[in-house]
Amino acid sequence: MDAATCLKKLEYVGVLAFATVDAHGAPQIRNISAIHYEPDGMYFFTARGKEFARELERDGRVQILGYTKYKEMIRVSAKAVTAPAEEQKKWMDIIFTEQPYLINVYPGDTREIGIIYEIRQAQIEYFHLGVSPIFRETYTIGGGTETRKGYRITEQCIGCGTCLSHCPQKCITAGEQYSIQQEHCLHCGNCSEHCPVGAVRRIGED
Ligand code: SF4
Ligand code: SF4
Repeated sequence: MDAATCLKKLEYVGVLAFATVDAHGAPQIRNISAIHYEPDGMYFFTARGKEFARELERDGRVQILGYTKYKEMIRVSAKAVTAPAEEQKKWMDIIFTEQPYLINVYPGDTREIGIIYEIRQAQIEYFHLGVSPIFRETYTIGGGTETRKGYRITEQCIGCGTCLSHCPQKCITAGEQYSIQQEHCLHCGNCSEHCPVGAVRRIGED
């Protein structure tokens, strides 16, 4: 799996959920399909007057979610920025060609109220619940950085094996110091709750 394949899968999903933050700090979520995909990026259309555009202008953070019929969750956490002025028409024409329904929604030159945003600093999380053990991986595009999540086993481990017996995915490797197979981990926390010596810590909290 890689970032380009994740974007291709999102393209097949078609209609994605876009979450933003409003002026009161509340989450706002919408379905968006006016999207054009490149192997290393996404461009999307909205109208400048919409609250959605105001939220993007004010805050810029956006989280985009798609879910395939194969139980694959793909989440893009990114910054949305206005595409360069000299590229606005190009991306708009491409999106209107790929999504002909837009011609009915914004006929003629009314599309000029539109604005194209592109995704930057993106982290893409791929989470496949349809395989056993489950599989997850994270990628970045557009200058994004990976935020590590989940749990890790520290040097306090006494090798008792309790965590492994409680792990729903059996994704913990035994040893003098046990270790979590991060690519198969649910981030459920059951290992942490059952460790008798508190050796399992949430990543980023230690
Ligand atoms: S339960 Fe805790 S001490 Fe026991 S093997 Fe797992 S991490 Fe190590
Ligand atoms: S967080 Fe859950 S899935 Fe991951 S290692 Fe611990 S028990 Fe297993």
